[in-house]
Amino acid sequence: MFNNGQQTRKLAVDCQWLHRTLAIGDSNDPYRMLCTHIIRNGENCVGPFLENLETDCLLWEASERFQKNQQK
Ligand code: SF4
Repeated sequence: MFNNGQQTRKLAVDCQWLHRTLAIGDSNDPYRMLCTHIIRNGENCVGPFLENLETDCLLWEASERFQKNQQK
């Protein structure tokens, strides 16, 4: 994806459909990365959530926070 002539890295953490939450009662792995896109509503995000590895998810869209950071 390109934005203002600069290449945009599509990191799953910057997707507008990502909802990060905690699973109460799961002390082993309480962190949840859920997708709120209508197609995947409620399922786990496909990720990955490793630093600087882009997602290949075709539903990815830039979050508002990400867009504001791009304008700086
Ligand atoms: S599955 Fe795709 S659309 Fe959903 S939060 Fe993850 S990257 Fe975004």
